[in-house]
Amino acid sequence: MDRNGFLIPTRLMNRLKVDSMNGVDPAKVKCTFRCDCGQESSRIRTIGAIRKSLLGRYSLRSVESESDGRLELHATCPSCGEPECIYRSATDGYEHALKGGTQEPAQTGIPPSFFHCMKCSGDQFTVKVEYEYSGLEEMESMTLHCPGDAFSWIRVSLYCWTCHKEYPGFLDFETS
Ligand SMILES: [Zn+2]
Ligand SMILES: [Zn+2]
Repeated sequence: MDRNGFLIPTRLMNRLKVDSMNGVDPAKVKCTFRCDCGQESSRIRTIGAIRKSLLGRYSLRSVESESDGRLELHATCPSCGEPECIYRSATDGYEHALKGGTQEPAQTGIPPSFFHCMKCSGDQFTVKVEYEYSGLEEMESMTLHCPGDAFSWIRVSLYCWTCHKEYPGFLDFETS
C-alpha cells in the first residue's frame, strides 16, 4: 500500500503516482509512472508480440512461438537511465502474490525490444497504469503480506511524448 492507503504493487510503490486522490475506489487504482529523478517519460522495452487490431489499436500479446508465452513491459528513464519493470507475467499479479513469490525469473534469452511510436517513431512515452483488485474481503482473510501485489487485472496505456498518439490498453492482462 502506498502512503495514502492505496493498493499498489510493492516494487512500484515510489514510482507510481495515483492520479485521482478523491473518491477513488480502492479496488481500482489509476496511476502515472514517474522515475525517481522526476522524469515523466520513459523508453519502453517489451517481451511479447505487438499486434494491431482491426480498429487500429496496438497491443502487446504473449505468443508462445515468439516470446515463450511471456509478457514483459519495462520502462527506462531517458534522463538517468534507471530501468524499471512495470509488468512481468512470470512474477506479477494475483496468482504469483498468492504463492508468495515475486522473485526475479531465470533469463530466457529472449531479447526485449524497444517500442517506437507507430506515427512519429518517437521512443518516449508517458506510462499510465491501472490495477484492479477483486475479492478484497477474501484477500483480507488471507492476510497477504503485500496485498498491493495481488492485482487481478493490469492495464498499461502509453502516450507518445512527441506526437501525443495514444496507445490505450497497450498491455491489458488478467492475472487471475
Ligand atoms: Zn530518471
Ligand atoms: Zn508519436
